[in-house]
Amino acid sequence: MSDRLLVIDDEIDFALFVRRVAETSGYEVKTTADPNEFRKIFREWHPTHIIVDLVMPEADGVEILRFLAGDLCVAKIFIMSGFDSRVVDAARRLGTERGLDIVAALQKPLRARELANVLESNHSEEDLVTETSLREALQHGDILPFYQPKVDLRSWDPVGFEALVRWRHARRGTIPPERFVPMAEACGRIDELSESVTVQAVSQVGAWRDQGIDTTVAINLSSLNLHEEALADRLDALCRHAGVPEDHITFEVTESAAMAEPLRALDILTRLRIKGFKLAIDDFGTGYSSLVQLHRLPFSELKIDRSFVQECDRSREAKIIVKTMIELAHNLEMSVVAEGVETEEVLHTLAALNCDAVQGYAVAHPMSPDLVPAWLAEWRSGHPHA
Ligand code: C2E
Ligand code: MG
Ligand code: MG
Repeated sequence: MSDRLLVIDDEIDFALFVRRVAETSGYEVKTTADPNEFRKIFREWHPTHIIVDLVMPEADGVEILRFLAGDLCVAKIFIMSGFDSRVVDAARRLGTERGLDIVAALQKPLRARELANVLESNHSEEDLVTETSLREALQHGDILPFYQPKVDLRSWDPVGFEALVRWRHARRGTIPPERFVPMAEACGRIDELSESVTVQAVSQVGAWRDQGIDTTVAINLSSLNLHEEALADRLDALCRHAGVPEDHITFEVTESAAMAEPLRALDILTRLRIKGFKLAIDDFGTGYSSLVQLHRLPFSELKIDRSFVQECDRSREAKIIVKTMIELAHNLEMSVVAEGVETEEVLHTLAALNCDAVQGYAVAHPMSPDLVPAWLAEWRSGHPHA
């Protein structure tokens, strides 16, 4: 069932504009300029979302908010006005203090894109991320990886891509992994999700090879994927079938993932390495017993968490931590990738610290696979030694 948006606004043109944008964003919409009609629709139609204009001739928005609070409204409310932001903020506080769920205060005039963003990011979760809709999305091929390049800090050569899963939702746009990976884990669909991402990523490497692009892909695994003893054999068979050498695929696991069931994880990860796959420890520095994991498990790559990376040009402490992590990894014969590199300053700091590779918006955002050949050509033309 879709979300129901009730709009009260006396400007007919604006109400029509909101209706058009909201319908495109997947809402059912009713609009009114009349407070009495508003109350009636509210009580009969049970909107999930409400837009309240603060200034109207018949009733002001504050009265509407008072009515909604009195009716114990649980809908998400957007307040809107042409007044300056202080008035809007004051109304927002008032609503919140009365127990209403005011999710945004918007100022007129409003661009369509701005409104669509707010509406799309405020859909009811239960309508969106459910086990059923996830299962359907998996079946329909709507769960797919984007690819973010890693580049070598000495040669500027792109050394591979990380597959980052997205849910391409017909009405809601692109949904990021934090919104559905934990759900997939909770409802027992994480094996299916990882299987789907892995099959797509491995066959993508094969397809790029056919186009003359020889590159590697890193795939994220969840701790819950590390339960199946036959995992390594299955992944090996998949690569053979696609004609992709195992050393072109890296599996990324977090420290906590490796800790969940230590013996089982050790068994599975070791067998993956023996088959020729690479292993990376992801978000390094954020979990617990980092050093124990590094020592115990056969990792080939260490990915420094972006919380340290992003500060390393400004904070002395962050820089020392990053430097130490790089040295540690090198001493253990692992390569180091810094995650979340957004600026040139951080890029240069990392190069000076002898980091091997970087990944982040300073190089490129995650992209759909069909954009990769053009990105590679453009990157290489800008970095002639790559
Ligand atoms: P991660 O593996 O640490 O992936 C890096 C995340 O940082 C990605 O977020 C990426 O888009 C984002 N990122 C890259 N460069 C920058 C930057 O310069 N600045 C900032 N602020 N962020 C940057 P994304 O794609 O939203 O993925 C989030 C997390 O979801 C991943 O973190 C990973 O743990 C998980 N994930 C992604 N794909 C999968 C998957 O297929 N399976 C599983 N189990 N987890 C996945
Ligand atoms: Mg990762
Ligand atoms: Mg990471």
